[in-house]
Amino acid sequence: MTDLRGFTTDRHRTVDDTPYGGGAGMVMKPEPWAAALGAVLEGGPAAAVGRPAVAGPAPAAVPGAATGPSAPGERPVLVVPSPAGEVFTQATARELALREHLVFACGRYEGIDERVVDWSREHFEVRPMSLGDYVLNGGEVAVLAMVEAIGRLVPGVVGNPASLVEESHADGLLEYPVYTKPALWRDRPVPEVLLSGHHGRIARWRRDRQLQRTAARRPDLVASLDPARLDRADRAV
Ligand code: SAM
Repeated sequence: MTDLRGFTTDRHRTVDDTPYGGGAGMVMKPEPWAAALGAVLEGGPAAAVGRPAVAGPAPAAVPGAATGPSAPGERPVLVVPSPAGEVFTQATARELALREHLVFACGRYEGIDERVVDWSREHFEVRPMSLGDYVLNGGEVAVLAMVEAIGRLVPGVVGNPASLVEESHADGLLEYPVYTKPALWRDRPVPEVLLSGHHGRIARWRRDRQLQRTAARRPDLVASLDPARLDRADRAV
């Protein structure tokens, strides 16, 4: 973590000022941001998050997990959380989990002077990124969510990598409902098929529930499914 106020030069450690053109709120000043990002680039008091070293044998590759390091010599990624950014998705998490060096620039107030974003493109691959279509007070909570979504795709972080395979958003669908013991709880039985031990029927039941749940809750996801990846039974649901 890098404290932006450590890169100010005035007595009050000021990081914001009034917006040119008028209007409500304050804007984050460019000078502390440039100094802080410069220090990160030089390996100073880094807000940089590197790929964690994983002890022990390399875990097996699984769909949904990140595989392979990023290309050597590539520029670090600067993620700038912003409600005006590209929406962060599981696909973004997969992509960023492959990168060696991620830096997150958390804004406050009305955001960061736009020239910082322009200047940063000379040194970073800059990615303005939104958590969703709503406005938070600051970028920190958004970055916590992004770091967790990215980090769990790095091999070795999730104990059982098979957990990543059938999750919501792994293949464009939401996950099927899940159950555990007891088989009967408050007059509610676990669906009989899950007790059958019949792997084919269980897989079909789960796939059907995925399709039904996604259609009911997220019709936008169904609309963007690749028809080539649907089998005949899928189309019947
Ligand atoms: N004036 C900005 C706008 O309308 O686009 C909103 C600024 S917001 C109050 C302050 C900071 O919170 C932003 O600079 C950003 O870092 C963060 N933030 C707010 N909403 C966000 C979202 N949906 N996704 C990611 N970051 C967000």
